Amino acid sequence: MDKESVASSIDNSVGQFNAESSIIVDDEVPLFDMSAYPEDMHKLIAECNKRIDEANSKYRTAKYREDMFAKGLKAGMYYCTFDRDENMLSFEFNDETRQMLGYDGLEDLPNEFDSWVKTLVPEERDAIVKLFWDSVRLHRELPDITHATYRMQKKDGSIIWVTGAGRFIRRPDDGSLEVYMGCYRDITAQQELEEHLKIIEAIGKIFNFSLFIDVSDMSYRIISNNKYVDMAPKDPDAMIFLKNNVASTVAESFRSRLYEWLDKDKILAAIEEHGTTSMEFYSEEAQRWFEGIFMVGDRNEDGSLAHIVYGCQDTTEAKLQNLAQQKKISEFETEVYIDSLSKVRNRRFLDDKLIYEPCKAVVMADIDLFKNINDTAGHQGGDQIIQRVAELLENSVRKEDVVIRYGGDEFMMVFFDITKKSLENKLSGIKSELRNIKIENHEDLPITMSFGAAFGTELVSNMIKTADKALYESKKVRNTYTISEL
Ligand code: GH3
Ligand code: MG
Repeated sequence: MDKESVASSIDNSVGQFNAESSIIVDDEVPLFDMSAYPEDMHKLIAECNKRIDEANSKYRTAKYREDMFAKGLKAGMYYCTFDRDENMLSFEFNDETRQMLGYDGLEDLPNEFDSWVKTLVPEERDAIVKLFWDSVRLHRELPDITHATYRMQKKDGSIIWVTGAGRFIRRPDDGSLEVYMGCYRDITAQQELEEHLKIIEAIGKIFNFSLFIDVSDMSYRIISNNKYVDMAPKDPDAMIFLKNNVASTVAESFRSRLYEWLDKDKILAAIEEHGTTSMEFYSEEAQRWFEGIFMVGDRNEDGSLAHIVYGCQDTTEAKLQNLAQQKKISEFETEVYIDSLSKVRNRRFLDDKLIYEPCKAVVMADIDLFKNINDTAGHQGGDQIIQRVAELLENSVRKEDVVIRYGGDEFMMVFFDITKKSLENKLSGIKSELRNIKIENHEDLPITMSFGAAFGTELVSNMIKTADKALYESKKVRNTYTISEL
């Protein structure tokens, strides 16, 4: 099959919203010319070619899938194609648009650009059409997905509000605009702002990273994952990027696990009742958090669900920031979660509140030769030292970070947002500050601590063992710190 007939077959089947038809993908391979790279990179290049090829075929498939979303959401949709000089080749509406606007069929509202113009409210028409062409002209400067809420006019003259998302699909090789498409829903009847936002978000999110899930066996396909597709051909570091990221993407980590973490019955019931349901999860393999929405994909003839769609976003960074901002303790919990001697948080706070939270670093810190301090200064002197040390640690960390008395003379620090360099500075700072802690009548008794830190992006629970090991290393010499990267 030559390129042109592939292109026309793609256009035709999209025109019919024939999402199930099989697609022949004819992307430019090989993407990287093997002979242009030294021998020792050939394995890597071959792997990259394979990955980019996979990504490109996903990109093609995505085009077919997106109209399925529109159908499932009962959303209106327009779909325009452009040639390499960015002249418009075709303009189409789906049937849902015609239904939404009260038209009877293809003859009543033909697939042409003027049909769309006709559906705009007369006094806003010129401005919106200008906006459309401006966006086409400037698409390279715009994000892939743009949201808009505007008015449309039905056949009977009545006016509805629609909200939706438009999306640019660019050719991977020269970045020229290939498709400009968008979904929209009639929101006139919906009063609550929250509901609007949910729909806008849902429509935006399905274009981001999504799965198309067969309800019968919950098998699934990835339908859009454009970050990788877009980056691969453009970015000179794409090879490294692909090697480091794509192989371990969530996409792959999902593969075997999907069935395990999905509570199928609950999800299906929620979708039937509310149209959508949201889900957040943590991928152990990718060590990232994801948040997304399940929606109707399409239905069988008898009305039962055939496919559902899960569109999601990586929320790890946002989540880390969020956690850092709220100190997770409320007034009435104070007593239960504060250690009575040191006044920092206790072990129970760790177990109840912190253990499954994501963080950037966990530090275990233990006072050196504390038995000697007790022997020399007495148990009360030792208690005072514990108090002074706790105070120093608490004052050394940011408000959002947490200091815990882990037990006896051992403390734990949890950081939500810290770089390795500042963690190092922090520990070395604490080490020198400890010199200022003195016991009455035993001023020359030095107070030192040993520190073991785990650094990475992980759940607190998964950091403790590494931090413990690092502390063990430090204890071999004492008065030092060890940082282990996860
Ligand atoms: P290392 O450098 O290896 O940590 O030596 P160390 O002597 O500090 O050894 P270890 O950490 O095992 O000893 C902790 C001691 O702390 C033992 C215990 O008697 C004492 N301790 C535990 N809780 C308290 C407390 O609340 N007050 C006082 N004064 N001492 C405590
Ligand atoms: Mg000790």
